[in-house]
Amino acid sequence: MAQDCIFCKIAAGDIEADVVLENDHIIAFRDTHPAAPTHILVIPKKHIPSLTKAELADVDVLGALQLAAARLAQEQGLENGYRVVTNCGEDGGQSVPHLHYHLLGGRNLTWPPG
Ligand code: 5GP
Ligand code: ZN
Repeated sequence: MAQDCIFCKIAAGDIEADVVLENDHIIAFRDTHPAAPTHILVIPKKHIPSLTKAELADVDVLGALQLAAARLAQEQGLENGYRVVTNCGEDGGQSVPHLHYHLLGGRNLTWPPG
């Protein structure tokens, strides 16, 4: 756990979140400022600052995060489509330095993003 990391604190249960999925390695919870009708964050419990900092040893958890996002999309009824995205660094628009995938759906998502 990284000190002062809000997502580590959510993973540890020290900060409340609307959790929709949890296992030993990952946790998924609803975004407090949803950008779409369904907006879920899927994160590793391990503190990885961003995809940029992920290592080969993290490949299993990276796969698990993506599969969890796809399973959650099904569970949430997003049969019409959805988006899974991870923002990296300043230009990528990352505001929380703990790796997370956004699962967005429930409306028509435009492309390219802003
Ligand atoms: P980023 O901008 O890093 O790609 O995404 C961070 C996301 O985390 C944002 O969509 C923001 O609304 C969400 N977020 C920030 N703090 C909290 C929090 O304490 N709880 C929850 N559930 N979401 C948060
Ligand atoms: Zn963290």
